Amino acid sequence: MAAKRVFFFGGGKAEGNGAMKDILGGKGAGLAEMTNLGVPVPPGFTISTEACNLYYRYRGKLPQDVKAEISANLSKLERVIGKKLGDPKNPLLVSVRSGSKFSMPGMMDTVLNLGLNDKTVEGLAQKSRNPRFAYDSYRRFLMMFSDVVLDLPKGNFVDIFDEKKLERGAAYDVDLVAEDLMDLCGKFKALVKERLKREFPQDPLVQLELARDAVFRSWNNDRAKYYRKTNGIPDDLGTAVNVQAMVFGNMGDDCATGVGFTRNPATGAKEFYGEYLVNAQGEDVVAGTRTPHQIRDMKKALPRVFDQLMRITAKLEKHYKDVQDFEFTIEGNTLYMLQTRNGKRTTAAAVKIAVDMVKEKLITKEEALLRLEPQQIDQLLHPVIDPKARLDVVARGLPASPGAATGAAVFHAERAVEWATEGKDVILVRKETSPDDIHGMDVARGILTAKGGMTSHAAVVARQMGKTCVAGCDAIDVDETTNRFMVGGKIVHEGDFISLNGTTGEVILGKAPLIAPAMTGAFGVFMSWADAVRRLKVRANADTPRDARVARDFGAEGIGLCRTEHMFFAEDRIPIMQEMILARTMENREAALSKLLPMQRDDFKGLYREMKGYPVTIRLLDPPLHEFLPKREELMVEVTKLELIHADRSIIEEKKRLLERVEELHEFNPMLGLRGCRLGIYYPEITRMQARAIFEAACDVTREGIRVHPEVMIPLVSMAGEMRAQKEIVVAVAEETMRRHKKKFPYTVGTMIELPRAAVTADEIATEADFFSFGTNDLTQTTFGFSRDDSGKFIQNYMNRSELCPQCGAKLEKDLSCAVCKVTYTKRAENILQADVFATLDQVGVGQLVRMGVEKGRSTRPGLKVGICGEHGGDPKSVEFCHRIGLDYVSCSPYRVPIARLAAAQAVLREKKPGKGGKK
Ligand code: ADP
Ligand code: MG
Ligand code: MG
Repeated sequence: MAAKRVFFFGGGKAEGNGAMKDILGGKGAGLAEMTNLGVPVPPGFTISTEACNLYYRYRGKLPQDVKAEISANLSKLERVIGKKLGDPKNPLLVSVRSGSKFSMPGMMDTVLNLGLNDKTVEGLAQKSRNPRFAYDSYRRFLMMFSDVVLDLPKGNFVDIFDEKKLERGAAYDVDLVAEDLMDLCGKFKALVKERLKREFPQDPLVQLELARDAVFRSWNNDRAKYYRKTNGIPDDLGTAVNVQAMVFGNMGDDCATGVGFTRNPATGAKEFYGEYLVNAQGEDVVAGTRTPHQIRDMKKALPRVFDQLMRITAKLEKHYKDVQDFEFTIEGNTLYMLQTRNGKRTTAAAVKIAVDMVKEKLITKEEALLRLEPQQIDQLLHPVIDPKARLDVVARGLPASPGAATGAAVFHAERAVEWATEGKDVILVRKETSPDDIHGMDVARGILTAKGGMTSHAAVVARQMGKTCVAGCDAIDVDETTNRFMVGGKIVHEGDFISLNGTTGEVILGKAPLIAPAMTGAFGVFMSWADAVRRLKVRANADTPRDARVARDFGAEGIGLCRTEHMFFAEDRIPIMQEMILARTMENREAALSKLLPMQRDDFKGLYREMKGYPVTIRLLDPPLHEFLPKREELMVEVTKLELIHADRSIIEEKKRLLERVEELHEFNPMLGLRGCRLGIYYPEITRMQARAIFEAACDVTREGIRVHPEVMIPLVSMAGEMRAQKEIVVAVAEETMRRHKKKFPYTVGTMIELPRAAVTADEIATEADFFSFGTNDLTQTTFGFSRDDSGKFIQNYMNRSELCPQCGAKLEKDLSCAVCKVTYTKRAENILQADVFATLDQVGVGQLVRMGVEKGRSTRPGLKVGICGEHGGDPKSVEFCHRIGLDYVSCSPYRVPIARLAAAQAVLREKKPGKGGKK
């Protein structure tokens, strides 16, 4: 016997059940499961997703054996109901409903009241003694079937319907009487004939076949495809078709139809939530035909049915152990359930519901922790744009740092600071940002750049600051000299209000209304459960006391990376920094450094005070020095200008000296040049100054009675000798300082592993290093040989090749044709990368270097403390990898700390139950 393709439900136990979503689709599985639970469900049968796939395989023809199975099930349905499809006296009417494995609300099609024709409508009218109801059902069917099956859009019918209401002075559909509806049915049929040059199909069996195939086809309509693409649902699953006896919510005032949730999907509150309409059918509630009533009002209007609905939905929730999103119809005071599924909800609601359900003993803490995607938590930490607001979206860039922001557009960091000090909200708009812009970024509500990728300067810094950022928005044309940007023919001037959605990448004109994040009590409880489970520690990357405080508030257990260079970009420091760099003698350099020392010491004191004994990893100066100097081209222009206006000779000379030095320091490949530990080895006085600042600050803060735990990190080490050279300096300063201050505290000196050679020789390096922190940004850069700042374009191409024309790179059409090259391909190109390696750790390559580094490092220094800092530390997949290979901690931007905490907990839970993930 061939495989079973059709599954009956009703009249006893169903042939399917709730676990069969793969073949019955979510809706079919739900209907079967409800039937088995004894919940009142109109009987019917589900044609499986496999039948849908056969339909596609045989190019629109369903195999004979499947058709036979359908007919047998139809006969069974007729028997169970005691009515026959097409019977002119007592007709069976059915709905033909789509439903795939993953819910795709409203994306596919459904036809109601099928089986009506000119004869059966009369039979229905007589049998029900309600002609109004019969013709109301017929006009609905004519319209829906034409729309879904015959491709004659609904709008045409709605126009005629509205005309009729106008003519009859009827405000709503319910105000029309039987004759009006009868007349409408005639008009609808005439429209079909006129437009399609054929009669509306009258044979109910033909109607059924056509509707079934239309539902199969709706799997591949554009809406559904788009939804699948954006939600990561595979294209080859197919939809099931549910053929179900109709029950009628449109027979009169003891009838109704509605939808609801067992808990509030926006807040998670345990309250019945939903809407219903009296004397109505299915789509009316959502279509806005009339204004629906709140479901709690049903308690008064239909008390008995309301109680029953409460009971049944509570039972369903208990059974599925999750919030249910349900659809129901009431016919003559009798309740029927038509659908149930786990409800979609906001993150805030998801947290509250998970916590409540643990308290109600419905689920365990472990289950609760697996119910959220770590990524989702982000929504709770930032303001969002009011979802009800109407927005003037003018462009879309990369969603570089989530949240939403609104403010006046400014084009320079100085102006940002100036206006922010006056209390104005500003959005900093730049072609791209550089370290010079930090102070402007710091005060801005959000950052918008025209260039750069997800790991551009703007994106990385914004994420660390927890600041909304839309990066790489190439639709905007920024002019930083005239202080404006052009977008789609519009001009935005300095001071004009704009808004950003960093979660979607949208750029919006005007002030978008924002909703502040609500840190509910449930969130704290939820996170405490995560903390109890995880083994990985979570630290934050923070350079300022303010970042450190945010990090602590979000539960960071230390600072994993403090980048000291950020401290030198402040307005009062950069001249001293430049003085230091321009110095020709060690003496002059030391003089400048001694001015920086007290400032740097204060920076560290602030961090220690915030971290109260938690470890603070401080990385010594890392970037190439030219980053602190004016750009060469700018200086050249300046000198020329000064000469033209015959400026004071001494000023010109000074600029020229500066230019000379900048040229001397010029490097072809600064990222591979004099930077990292090479700087500290070449100019040991820099390391000495920084070490002094670190340890003097520690002594001072210890004196205040606060515990400290500095960890000095040497950047960009590739040889054990480099580590040794720098460590000697740091240890000498540490010991000398502690002696001088008569203070003692624990401290360590370790290194960042961010070059392949360091990972490969980790055993040697570990003999010198107390700890390793994998700098996976640079490690990815150097392992792939991808420049972080220049690789955005081709990484995007590598990730999307299957969508693109292999010849010209244009986006392919659905049928794999290229509109530009006029070629149709037979297969798609292979994607070379599955994800952006700067956002999600490349486990196959870079990850292996990390794994090797850990193993080799611990082979010569057992118990070596190992962590990771960099963007990957806050990426859930990468966190799971870090857990698996036995790291001690991850460090990420403060706003990602809660995400990493949950990801670390889930890593433990997944390990316990192999193969069992959270939701997809
Ligand atoms: P969707 O997937 O778009 O929600 P459904 O197949 O659930 O489409 O159908 C939409 C609505 O049509 C249902 O919520 C219900 O109100 C109505 N409906 C579907 N089947 C029946 C039926 N057998 N009897 C009465 N109403 C039905
Ligand atoms: Mg539905
Ligand atoms: Mg680095």
